[in-house]
Amino acid sequence: MHSGGPQKAHRMLNTSLPRSPYAPLRCLLVSPEFPKNSFWNWSSVCKVRGEKTMGLPLGLLTLAAILPQEWQFQLVDQNTGALRDDDIRRADVICVGGMTVQQGGILDVIRKARQYGKFVAVGGTDPTSQPAIYQDADALVLGEAETNVPIWLKAWEQGSPRGVFQGGGAPDITASPVPRYDLARLKDYLYASIQSSRGCPYHCEFCSVTELFGRAPRTKTPEQVCRELGVLFDLGYRGWVDFADDNFIGNKKSVRQLLPALVDWCKRRKHPFFFSTEVSLNLAEEPELMDQMAAADFRYLFTGIESAQEEVLHAAQKPINTQHPLRQRIRRIHEHGLFVTAGFVLGFDNEPENAADSIIACAKENALPVAMVSLLTAAPLSQLTRRLAAEGRLMDSAGNLFGADQPFEMRTAERVDLVLDQTAGGLNFATARDRKAILRDQIRIIDTLYDPANFMARAIEAVARIPHAPKHKSGWSETWVDLTAFARVAVAISRQPEIRGHFWRFLGQSWKLGPGRFALAAALATIYMHFMEMRVRLLENLHRRYDGEADHQPLPLIAAETGEDATPEVAVRC
Ligand code: SF4
Repeated sequence: MHSGGPQKAHRMLNTSLPRSPYAPLRCLLVSPEFPKNSFWNWSSVCKVRGEKTMGLPLGLLTLAAILPQEWQFQLVDQNTGALRDDDIRRADVICVGGMTVQQGGILDVIRKARQYGKFVAVGGTDPTSQPAIYQDADALVLGEAETNVPIWLKAWEQGSPRGVFQGGGAPDITASPVPRYDLARLKDYLYASIQSSRGCPYHCEFCSVTELFGRAPRTKTPEQVCRELGVLFDLGYRGWVDFADDNFIGNKKSVRQLLPALVDWCKRRKHPFFFSTEVSLNLAEEPELMDQMAAADFRYLFTGIESAQEEVLHAAQKPINTQHPLRQRIRRIHEHGLFVTAGFVLGFDNEPENAADSIIACAKENALPVAMVSLLTAAPLSQLTRRLAAEGRLMDSAGNLFGADQPFEMRTAERVDLVLDQTAGGLNFATARDRKAILRDQIRIIDTLYDPANFMARAIEAVARIPHAPKHKSGWSETWVDLTAFARVAVAISRQPEIRGHFWRFLGQSWKLGPGRFALAAALATIYMHFMEMRVRLLENLHRRYDGEADHQPLPLIAAETGEDATPEVAVRC
């Protein structure tokens, strides 16, 4: 569906395009910078390893494969290098997009394109979720690229390249082309990315995945996934590959077909890669899948535990996390040689006052050294946002409530160094619990979990539990990167008197557990570099936010509606 957007008249005059989109145009693809203050931005780890950033901009590489192949592409990832004026000057078309944390960067590229009179098209999850913010772009190509880029190109052929292009529906991703991995300098990245599925069968209230990609996960064929891996292999890439799926096991029937093919492909090439991905906790009830994941050399899994309280999980529409005891599930996953990175969320309406204690205890008891704790965020398009809008509780970044007739939008700081991710941002709504109490909890959780003694204690427990049996054997260049990174981290941490004792004791204990386990210990010791720095930065940001937070009276919503106390004492699961 093409609808002419409210484009500015001066844009129409400034930019010119050939009549056909199949002319040999120069296309600049820009991936805006991710905030430095993010839990997920392991820039210090990348730096000691000689890499520039974490994951590949997979969306733009896929887009490049969908756009006319007559075009000449240049990728500028602002996480690995600067966008120069010359890059913009040379381009005929600029494509930019990304997530909400990249919003300021996307707008900046639109501004620069306008300054040089260049045609700019935007897409990706934030423009799809809140297109009104991006009205200054020439073309807004919303939704998934496979079905909506053709709508844009067709309109362009008919003489209307400007406007809003959407409505193509959810594509069959078995027809999605291999991403143009050749456009990226692979050695700048900590890991390469691939995608085998989109969507998730669950419907957690706070998550916008199902609104964007649906509840019936669509999957690529095993041959297609292996073909994509083959392209990375042929480009000389070796090492870590992340499956950037919403939930890798969302479609179990397909993953049961994929994994044997993947194991076979990896074995035949002597395991050039090891893998990470995101899964729901019910993986623990699938021993065969876990065996196969271990056989393919999956090492790191992210899973959203969200809360240690059953009642909170039910209210957040995540009952899948309550079906079996958490302790038993994490232990089973660990026993299959899979390391778990956990996601927790603070700020739910029925969260009890002991939420911080329960999260800290849960991370400790389940040997979870890497735990991401977010402040609940009402993301555009999520069910949570719709509910909070109906209750009149959504807030803008200045803390003002949106009026009933005001459309909700989530604006981030324009400067990337001021953008906070969900670890220190979030709570963009009137909370049921006292706001300052939630922030105090978050400060205590971050301070406690990433205290060196506590982190190393959880790390040694994880190393002892996880029978790490790597299939991928690093080549000389990978080994050199790992060793030099480890040496640099060891030197940096040894200069910190309050940390070095814990660090060396942890490594000594790990060494006694055998070389396979020591490899995992060395990886954890290296990433502590990030947590050591992040703890300081995050606590600064959280304290600043806490000090600036106006006293907030808890809304009487829950008490009024249920007749119960707004913060009931509930059982701690794990
Ligand atoms: S399981 Fe994960 S991806 Fe699926 S809806 Fe819940 S939070 Fe979103």
